[in-house]
Amino acid sequence: MESLKNRLVKESSSIGSDILKVDHFINHQIDVGFMKEIGEAIAERFKGEKIDKLLTVESGGIAVAIAAAEALACTKALFAKKTVPNTMTGECYTAEAKSFTKGTVSMLRVEKCFLNKGERILIVDDFLARGQAAMALVDIAQEAECEIVGVGAVIEKRFQGGSALLEERGIRVESLCVIDEIKDGVITFGQ
Ligand code: 5GP
Repeated sequence: MESLKNRLVKESSSIGSDILKVDHFINHQIDVGFMKEIGEAIAERFKGEKIDKLLTVESGGIAVAIAAAEALACTKALFAKKTVPNTMTGECYTAEAKSFTKGTVSMLRVEKCFLNKGERILIVDDFLARGQAAMALVDIAQEAECEIVGVGAVIEKRFQGGSALLEERGIRVESLCVIDEIKDGVITFGQ
């Protein structure tokens, strides 16, 4: 997605050679019009697939899931929670994911009532790094006996291995923008 690459060059900043900050338009302040374009681009990649529900993880993935769901005319965007609010009273599917940015391990939780056997699930997220979050969502959806259509990532840092890990498990990965390297603040894009 050329417009995404251009915005990354102009509006992102890097923290070392591992982390990209996109707080101006994706992660903190959201450019709503641009998020709509992101949703449409994800929908384009998965055009023709039957998708019952989008699944993501709070908080960065929520806007992406809503935008993609809208573009796919899919009415449900579900997000795994990382903490347990008092309102989360039902039985849950759980899977652990080590947070790339925080270095902590979170337990991702989805109430069982929101995933039904046989549903076709598209997993989306803002970033794909080591694949921990996406893999945990795959585990949750598979435990619920759902079918996984694929993983749609807005920004994939390919050098961190997440897509390879998912593809080894037979999961289709589509990334709107692939980064091969971040060095001295310069992003090298891949295919
Ligand atoms: P993974 O689980 O694939 O290692 O990392 C993906 C998750 O970590 C995403 O949900 C995303 O929120 C966060 N993440 C990974 N890398 C980055 C990054 O470079 N910048 C930001 N803002 N978040 C990231």
